[in-house]
Amino acid sequence: MTRSALYRGIGISGGKAQGKIKFYKEANRAAVKGTRVVKEIELKRLKSAKEKSLEQIKELLKIARTTVGEGEAEIFEIHAMLIEDEDMASAMEEEIYKGKSAEAAVEASAEAYSEMLKSLNDEYLSGRAADIKDICARILRNLVGHEGEKEEQSEPYILVAEDLTPSQTVSLDRSKILGFVTFGGTPSSHTAILARAMGIPALIGTGEISEKHDGSTALLNAQDGTLTVNPTPKEVAEFEIQRRAQDKISKEHERYLRSVMNKPAVTQSGHRMLIYANVGDEGEVAASLSNGAEGIGLLRSEFMYLSRKEYPTEEELFRAYKSIALEMGGRRVIVRTLDVGADKQIPYFSMPHEENPALGYRAIRLCLDRQELFKVQLRAILRASALGNVCVMLPMVVSVDEVLESKKLLEECKRELLTQGRDFDSKIQLGIMIETPAAAIMSRELAREVDFFSVGTNDLSQYTLAADRQNPALSRLCEENTEPVLRLIKMAADSIHDFGGWIGICGEMAADLSLTQRFADMGIDELSVSAPYLLGVRGKVGECS
Ligand code: PEP
Ligand code: MG
Repeated sequence: MTRSALYRGIGISGGKAQGKIKFYKEANRAAVKGTRVVKEIELKRLKSAKEKSLEQIKELLKIARTTVGEGEAEIFEIHAMLIEDEDMASAMEEEIYKGKSAEAAVEASAEAYSEMLKSLNDEYLSGRAADIKDICARILRNLVGHEGEKEEQSEPYILVAEDLTPSQTVSLDRSKILGFVTFGGTPSSHTAILARAMGIPALIGTGEISEKHDGSTALLNAQDGTLTVNPTPKEVAEFEIQRRAQDKISKEHERYLRSVMNKPAVTQSGHRMLIYANVGDEGEVAASLSNGAEGIGLLRSEFMYLSRKEYPTEEELFRAYKSIALEMGGRRVIVRTLDVGADKQIPYFSMPHEENPALGYRAIRLCLDRQELFKVQLRAILRASALGNVCVMLPMVVSVDEVLESKKLLEECKRELLTQGRDFDSKIQLGIMIETPAAAIMSRELAREVDFFSVGTNDLSQYTLAADRQNPALSRLCEENTEPVLRLIKMAADSIHDFGGWIGICGEMAADLSLTQRFADMGIDELSVSAPYLLGVRGKVGECS
C-alpha cells in the first residue's frame, strides 16, 4: 500500500486544491557544447535568440499587465532591461570568442552572473540572480528552438517545481493549474507576490519533494501550509469537510457575497468594520475595487522604488498617488512611506552591509536620517491629498520621538507647498504602523500624536516571537503562537480608542478568518487585505457576533 507523505511549507495565496501532482520540467536544453564552432554564426544565432526572447518578454509584459496588474508586470520590464544589458551581452560574446557555442556561452554567463549576485549575500540581488537564470533559460530555449513545455495534460493538476521564475508563474495556464508548490522560495519573492495577486493556492519552501510522487494524488492546503501526498481516505474526507467549512468561497457564497459587496460589513452586534485593500501600486487598484474595497489600507510605496533603477522624483510619486486617489474616488487611500531595508534592498540606496538587516537600518529609521528622501515622499503624498482622501502612514515606529520628528518634517513640507502655491489637505490624517512590540507597549503615548494605527502583523509577529518571517522553518511556530501578538494588538486598540483615533490591521493576519471574531471583539475598525481576500473577509465580519 502507498504511504501518505506530508510536506510543510509556507502557504501563499490561501485556498485548497486536490488533484494529481505534476512535476514542472523545463524544455530539453540540448545545449551544443561542441568545440568546432564558427564564431560569426554563433554570434548571429545568439543575437537572433536574444531578439526573439525580448519579443516574448514584451508579450508576457502585456499579458501580465492585464492579468496581475502594472506593479507585478514590472518584473518583465526588468527582464527586458537585463536582456539588453551590455555587460551581460559582452560576457556572452566573450565566451563565444573563446570558442564556445552560443548555448554554452549563455549557460556559462548565466552561471557566472548569478553566482556573483548570490555571493553578495543580499536578498534583493539574489532575487535578480533568479531573474538572470530565467532570462538565460529563455534564450537557450530559443537557441535550440523550444518554446518551453506546452501544457498538454488535459486534467487540471497541482504543479510541483524546485522553483518557479516570475515568467514561468505568469505563463501558467490557470485553467490547468489547481495550485503550485515550490521546494524553495520565501513569501517576499516575486513568485509569491505574483501568486497572491493571481489568487492561486500556492505553497513555497517545502524542501525537496521526491519526483517519485509525480502523478500521485495530493491535498494542497495553502491555508495551513501543507501538501499531503497519497492521502488516506480519512485525510481526504477531513480535507473535504474543511474545504467546505472554511474560507473557500463556493460559487453560491461568492454570489451572495457579491450581492452584499456594497453593503457595510457589520457584525451581528452592530460593530462596523471597514474592508480595505493592500496594494503595491496603481495596477492593483481596479481588482481591489471590483472586489468591494472601501479604501486602500496599505499602499506599499517601496514597490515604486524597488522597480526602478534610480530614485523616483516627487513628480513621479505624485502622479502615481494622484491616479490612485482619483481611481478610488474619495475612498480613503493610506500611503505608507518608504519601508526599505531588511528583505527589501535597493541597489541605488547604497545601504551599508548589515549582519541582521531585519533588525537594522530600515523604514522610518532610514527616512529620518535621509530627510530629503523622506520629504520628497511627504510632499508627493500631501499634493495627492488635494485630490482625494489620502492619509500618511509611518512604518516601523518604535518611539514617540520618531513620530514627533516626522510630524515636524510633515509641517515643513506643508509650509514649502504653501510657498509654492500648491494645494494639499491641511488636515491630512497621520497614522503609524504598529509592527514592533515597542510601538504596542508605548501605544498610549503614541496614540496622543496620531490619528490612527495600522497593525503590521507580519513584522509584529516576527519581532514578538523572535521568528524570522523569511524562514520557512518558523512559519508553523508563528501560526501556533498568535496569542502574544493578539494581546499586543488589543493593547494598541484600547490606547488609540481612548484617544479618539481608529485602528486597522494590514498584515496577513487580517485575512485569517479564524481571527476575525477576535478582531471584532477588540473593536478593530478596519481590515486591509489583498484583493482576492476582500470578499471572504467581508462575509466573515457579517457572521461575527
Ligand atoms: C507587516 O509587517 O505586517 C506589513 C503589513 O508590512 P510589510 O509586510 O510590508 O512589512
Ligand atoms: Mg512590515
